[in-house]
Amino acid sequence: MNIHEYQAKELFDKFGVPSPNGRAASSPKEAYDAAKWLDVKNLVVKAQVHAGGRGKGVFKNGFKGGVQLVESAEDAREVASKMLGQTLVTKQTGEAGRLVRKVMVTESVTISREIYLAILLDRESRQPIIIASTEGGMDIEEVAERSPEKIVRERVNPLAGLQAYQVRKLCESLGFDTTARQFGRLLHALYKLFIECDCSMVEINPVVVTTDDHVYALDAKFNFDDNALFRHPEILAMRDTDEEDPREVAASESGLNYIGLDGNIACLVNGAGLAMATMDIIKHYGGEPANFLDVGGGATKDQVVAAFRIILGDPQVKGILVNIFGGIMDCNVIASGIVEATREVGLSLPLVVRLEGNNVEAGRATLAGSGIAVINASTMADAAQKIVAAVA
Ligand code: GDP
Ligand code: MN
Repeated sequence: MNIHEYQAKELFDKFGVPSPNGRAASSPKEAYDAAKWLDVKNLVVKAQVHAGGRGKGVFKNGFKGGVQLVESAEDAREVASKMLGQTLVTKQTGEAGRLVRKVMVTESVTISREIYLAILLDRESRQPIIIASTEGGMDIEEVAERSPEKIVRERVNPLAGLQAYQVRKLCESLGFDTTARQFGRLLHALYKLFIECDCSMVEINPVVVTTDDHVYALDAKFNFDDNALFRHPEILAMRDTDEEDPREVAASESGLNYIGLDGNIACLVNGAGLAMATMDIIKHYGGEPANFLDVGGGATKDQVVAAFRIILGDPQVKGILVNIFGGIMDCNVIASGIVEATREVGLSLPLVVRLEGNNVEAGRATLAGSGIAVINASTMADAAQKIVAAVA
C-alpha cells in the first residue's frame, strides 16, 4: 500500500523526521487558507498523487510542473486551481496520468544541497538497507546507471538496530559536516518509523540542507507491507483507493489475490504457482495475460463469482482462461461460480476451461449442463493454445 506525501508528513511529524510545515488542500480556497495559515512569503504547492517525478510532470491542460514555488497566498490559490481536478502525467504515471484531487501547500526552503535517501528491505541479506547518494533530486535509476560509485549502501542488523558508527559512516560519505548531527537524528527517526510502521520502503528524494543549515525531508514515498497492515489501522485508514487499479480494489474487497496487467487474456487459476505458470504458458504461445489471479485453495462460490465479475467488467479482456488443478479446491465450486457469474453478467467472450482434480466430473457436468459456450481443454498447453487462437 502507498500513501500520499501529506499523509507521510503526519508520520514524519509523529516520529520526529523534520519536514517543512504544510497542509493538504482539496480546493483553491483551502490552498489559500493553508498559505495564510503558514504565514510565510515563500511557498510550495505540490500535487498529491501516488507517483513520483511530479516536479517535471505536465498536466493534460498544458500546465507544466506538479511542484510549484509561489510567493503569496493568492498565487497558491491560482496554482492550486490549475492543478486540482486536472490530470498530471509524469515519468511514473504512464500516459494515462493521475487525477489530482488534493494539493499540499508547504513552506518553501532555500536549498543548498539535495541528498537521496531510502530505506528498504534487502532480499539478499534479508536486512533493512539504507541507500543514499549525494545526487539528490535526480532519478536514482539514472544515478545508478551513470555514476554508481555515488550510491552508498548500509545494511542494518534488524536485531541490533541502526548503530551510531553506521550513521557516522553515512554522514561522512554524504559529506555532512556542520549538519551531521541533524542528519543523524533524521536517520534514526526514519529508521524507527520504517521498522515500527512495517514499511517495505521509504524513499526521500530529496533530503535537503538549507542555506541556513537545516536538514529537512522534502519529499516522501512510502510502501507498506500489506500483510502487516492489520497491525496499523491508522495507516490502513490512509489508503486512497482512488489511486489504485479499480480491478485490484474490487479484488481485495473479495479477498482475492489479483494483480491487473496489460494483456487481453484474463486468467482464473487456483494456486499462486499455477497462476504464474499459466501466465508463462499464455506468453509462450504468443498471448498476453490481462491479470494474475489466484483464487486460492479455499475459494467460495461467491469469490469465484466476484472474480468472474472483475474479469468480465474489464474492457481490455478479449478471452478467458480458467485453469484449475483441484487439490483442495472443489472443481464444482469453480464451475458453479462461473455459471452464476455468467448468468448474471452474460458472456460474450471465448472461455477456455481446463479442470482437473477434486470432484472434476461434477464440475464438468455443471458446465456442460449450463448451456455456456465453454471451450474445453485437456492440458495447460492445450488450454493456452486454444485461448490464444480464440483472441487472435
Ligand atoms: P517529485 O518531483 O515528485 O519527486 O517531487 P519533489 O517533492 O521531490 O519536488 C521536486 C523538486 O522540487 C525537488 O527535487 C526540489 O528540487 C524542488 N522543491 C521542492 N520543494 C522545494 C522547496 O521548498 N524549495 C525549493 N527551492 N525547491 C523545492
Ligand atoms: Mn522527489
